[in-house]
Amino acid sequence: MRPSRVAFKVCKEKHHDGRRRHQSKHPTMIVPNFKHHIARGVGRLTGLVFTSGKGSYVQTQCGKTLLDFTTGIGVLNTGHSHPRVIAAAKEQLDHIVHSQVNIGWHEKMLELTELLLPNLPSKTAAAASNNDQLDTLFFATTGAEAVENSIKMARAYTGKHGVIVFRGGYHGRTFGTMGMTTSSRIYRQKFGPLMPGTIPWIAWGDLCVCFGSLIFFLLVLSRYSGIHVTPFPYEYHGMTSDLAMDNLDQLYKDTVHEDDIAAIIVEPVLGEGGYVPAPPDFLQRARDFAKSKDALFVCDEVQTGFGRTGSLFACDSEYFGHVQPDILTMAKGIASGFPLSAVATRRDIGDACDPGMLGGTYAGNALSCAAAVETQKVLHEEGLVENSAAMGKRLMDNLHAIQKNESVSKGLIGDVRGLGLMVGVEFNYQDDAVEAGLKNKVAQECVDEGLLILGCSTYEVLRFVPPLNITEEDIDIASEKFETALKRCL
Ligand code: PLP
Repeated sequence: MRPSRVAFKVCKEKHHDGRRRHQSKHPTMIVPNFKHHIARGVGRLTGLVFTSGKGSYVQTQCGKTLLDFTTGIGVLNTGHSHPRVIAAAKEQLDHIVHSQVNIGWHEKMLELTELLLPNLPSKTAAAASNNDQLDTLFFATTGAEAVENSIKMARAYTGKHGVIVFRGGYHGRTFGTMGMTTSSRIYRQKFGPLMPGTIPWIAWGDLCVCFGSLIFFLLVLSRYSGIHVTPFPYEYHGMTSDLAMDNLDQLYKDTVHEDDIAAIIVEPVLGEGGYVPAPPDFLQRARDFAKSKDALFVCDEVQTGFGRTGSLFACDSEYFGHVQPDILTMAKGIASGFPLSAVATRRDIGDACDPGMLGGTYAGNALSCAAAVETQKVLHEEGLVENSAAMGKRLMDNLHAIQKNESVSKGLIGDVRGLGLMVGVEFNYQDDAVEAGLKNKVAQECVDEGLLILGCSTYEVLRFVPPLNITEEDIDIASEKFETALKRCL
């Protein structure tokens, strides 16, 4: 392979639709045009090549600067390249990069554990008196791995197999989590069949003996395996908390038996599915319901965690009345862009897995843990959780003002919603005037204006996910850019 060459050339950046957006004569690195060797199954908001990021801004190969309201999909809570996080990672590089979890310990994982424990949702007086705290951690690499491991633990602990998920939920792209993800069919189309309950391996010699029991096993398989989907309380689409609870209850009457369900897993704020905060009462009701059915209650906070919603964890917020799950999954914001995820459980749940049952080559990587340690310190010492709440409010106020301004919104913004800096804008789904794909059109116009924002959901929703240390000024700049883009599209 030929190395990249540094040269002067006309820099032509294109968007995903092939339209040329930015041209400048700029000294630039000629990256060999190998883009067509990257699998086309990876969707992209833009065709831009990003070369650096600092705080809330990124720069492209052509020298264009953009305000980043995507943060790598909710990962860069401390902003791009926070100097303290980068310094901590550099220091770790001089010590040890990879210290495999099944071989021994490394210091940064233990330091991270010490920092996380007092901040987990379970450290409430009620939990402590019940000896019910989340005090056991397992570190992995990606969010999907965290979710899959939470299900492994729930199965090992309860001896049951089924899982209940909520419609519109996103839990990952691996084979296990793909079946749990219903935010869009794109994540599963052509990939089926989804993972069924795993049939135990049977040697040929044993087959005749086992044939009867195999048939029996297959017959009951649907009972023992399965991911069951129930509506998420999406009030803008008429699904209230009461209705969602009725549906959950009904699922236990017409489809599943409590002997089968190991876990009920929920995102406190639907992420990929539309940036929809569950109504305030819902988490506690769902949690109590799970308990009444002897199922573990799992909060997937891969996207909502680490201050994103204005509380360290959304389930532990005033908004939700400080709900304690049995299992909590985390990733994204935990390490400011270094790949790391975690599962927090009660000790008895964690102990259901014998040594050897959990692990992974890169699980709890030392470099990622070093970045995560510093990320936790930055979040607390620089008041980022509080800033997330304050800036989220400012952003929502700005967006509500745009919504109310009929000359801009043309009455087509149906809903502005969010918690902290997890804010969504949904175009009026009932109005035929809203064309399919409007969110993508607006997002592209925003990019032209110098603002990166992403769509989500099967509805026309745009999500605003800036760094948690964003300034008031940048919140206002982004709101203006969004307004300008809207004026061009509506
Ligand atoms: N769970 C939630 C709530 C997510 O938002 C995501 C990713 O967006 C995942 C799980 C999967 O995480 P990853 O992409 O790191 O596997």
